Amino acid sequence: MRNSKETLIRPVGMPDSLSRPIVTPLSTAVAFASSTPDELDAQYEGRAQGYTYAREGHPNATVLAQRIDALEGITGGIVTGSGMGAVTAALMGTLSAGDHIIGGDQLYGRSLRLMKEDLPRFGIETSLADPTDAAAFEKAIKANTKAVLVEVVSNPTLRVADMDGIARLCADRGILLIVDNTFTTPRAYKPFAQGADIVIHSVTKLLAGHSDVTLGYVAAKDPAVQKKIYDFSVTTGMTASPFDCWLAERGLATFDLRFERAQSNALALADHLAGLDGVKRVLYPNRADHPDHQRAATLLGGQGCNMVSFEVEGGRAAANALARAAEGIAFAPTLGDVGTTLSHAASSSHRALTPDAREALGMSEGFFRVSVGLEDSAALNQVFTQAVQAATAV
Ligand code: PLP
Repeated sequence: MRNSKETLIRPVGMPDSLSRPIVTPLSTAVAFASSTPDELDAQYEGRAQGYTYAREGHPNATVLAQRIDALEGITGGIVTGSGMGAVTAALMGTLSAGDHIIGGDQLYGRSLRLMKEDLPRFGIETSLADPTDAAAFEKAIKANTKAVLVEVVSNPTLRVADMDGIARLCADRGILLIVDNTFTTPRAYKPFAQGADIVIHSVTKLLAGHSDVTLGYVAAKDPAVQKKIYDFSVTTGMTASPFDCWLAERGLATFDLRFERAQSNALALADHLAGLDGVKRVLYPNRADHPDHQRAATLLGGQGCNMVSFEVEGGRAAANALARAAEGIAFAPTLGDVGTTLSHAASSSHRALTPDAREALGMSEGFFRVSVGLEDSAALNQVFTQAVQAATAV
């Protein structure tokens, strides 16, 4: 007769050890066993810490959320399966039919779509306003306005929102201020310290930094609001994969260094592009010729960002030539990777708009956004010289 140790399908767990791993172990378990119903009660009632079912929380999600909490100066944030999961949980977890929300008119494309197409289907009214002008937000306020959603630096024109004005407005009117801090990161902007009620990240981008995970983060100042967001995310299944959380935690360990290098490369590239024949304009918030230069200087506390946008002369043929000649630079619609990536609004983020509507936003066929990575700065500038020359030759 075989003994129970031989026949049990589920072994008893990790071997005993006086020492602990120095790296967070990957915990892929979907369910967690308690000893008794009383212990389970204690967990559910918050009298003891523990896990039950991975959709409701798991160790790798907790570790990652706590790391981002520390950067944002808050506790109790959660991670979601994507940045859009975080945006959706923040909005749909806090708003109800009959409420109104105002969003920045240059939000990330899918956030814009959520505002324009999806929230109205659930009876939530939405308006868009220019976030560089707090007065435009004030004008859009209605009696039922419950929340405002802004990105500090807009994509891809890199305009800097009037965060102080908008925060003051929200505080005066008792409106929830929701800040998507993906582009700026907690290195350049600390939304909670500046009046935000909810902070969102696409962790997919700079925080994780290696384009190999899709994750989001959302935290609220008020624990009651955080509970609503958490419940909505658990009910709608926004669970973050343990492996993605584990990878993101690893990425986060070098976030400071990566951000430092990426933004110094970005400033150097912006200055370099501005000196090249064939470049019509360069957008980088820390350059004196940027329309929001002054605001960026005060708001971002001397930090910049890793994004540079620029426009070359010529139409689609010039754009094709530029992308082809940018050797070693991925032409891909993402940002915040260790490697530089190049994206083209007319064929990706803003492809649904008519050419005239794009022109009005300053996004011609020659308009590109660069997410600057950690390459050698001089080599990177050389690749862009080559790419701009190829576009100009068309
Ligand atoms: N917020 C911003 C500012 C973004 O740029 C993105 C994606 O690019 C998102 C949210 C959505 O994040 P994810 O792709 O992780 O869903």
